[in-house]
Amino acid sequence: MQTKCAPAGAAPVHDEPPLPPPNKKARALHGKIIIQLKNLLSRNAASALDPVFKAGYSTILELFAAYQREIIASSDYRVTCGKNCPLCCFHWVADVYSFEAAMIGEYIQNHLPQNIPAMCAALREDARLLQTLDDMLDERVLKDARPDTLRELDRDDLLLEGFYQLRRPCALLDERGACTVYAVRPMSCRSYVSFSDPLLCDPDTIYYHEALTCLCTLEPQADELLEELHARYDRCEGDTSLRTLLPYYLEGFRDCIFKRII
Ligand code: SF4
Ligand code: SF4
Repeated sequence: MQTKCAPAGAAPVHDEPPLPPPNKKARALHGKIIIQLKNLLSRNAASALDPVFKAGYSTILELFAAYQREIIASSDYRVTCGKNCPLCCFHWVADVYSFEAAMIGEYIQNHLPQNIPAMCAALREDARLLQTLDDMLDERVLKDARPDTLRELDRDDLLLEGFYQLRRPCALLDERGACTVYAVRPMSCRSYVSFSDPLLCDPDTIYYHEALTCLCTLEPQADELLEELHARYDRCEGDTSLRTLLPYYLEGFRDCIFKRII
């Protein structure tokens, strides 16, 4: 699994800013993340909501933040992202791990139970709209495309770019544009960073202007261990989209219209 945003689909069409390879301190932090992941795997908790599992993953997220800081500090760039900076939250966030969705669901049930009906209604509408876009891609856009054009297109990227243009805010944002699950937001959301004016992340400009965004992610060894953990706690047939996973974790059943794995 390639972590995020882009929030799958978030990677803009221009080249991403090149980040330097991990330095000694970043490599040491990555080593600690690997140890923590192996601990979680060998402990084999019955549930992702096991308190020790949650504490272990919280430590991993803290180490990940320190790892990102170290890499970016050794680059020519400075992060411009803020806590109440919601434009990238229009993305269809994919590459969310099953255990992360379980923890977000529990967090919402504990802290925002009154929001669940409206959240689930918005999430289902998101899924319906994505399905509509998916159908339109076949029926109206790709049907008459030339074979050489089709070969160059990444269908899922096209779909996710289309969804971004719909400006559907993540249902987990509050009315001020703050993430209501910030403390437990998925690694996918944490991986996507910008080094340019936040206004350039707007769907109207991200694909055509000088937005400097990139994915600052872990190395493949960590990805593989995360995948293993994801499979162990998967309850949704491999789905990794935040907007289709959450209704299951909030209401206990799975009825979102868009079920294709992106
Ligand atoms: S600067 Fe862009 S990528 Fe960063 S939090 Fe704001 S909208 Fe998201
Ligand atoms: S989970 Fe939070 S950070 Fe991620 S897209 Fe939703 S509101 Fe934004």
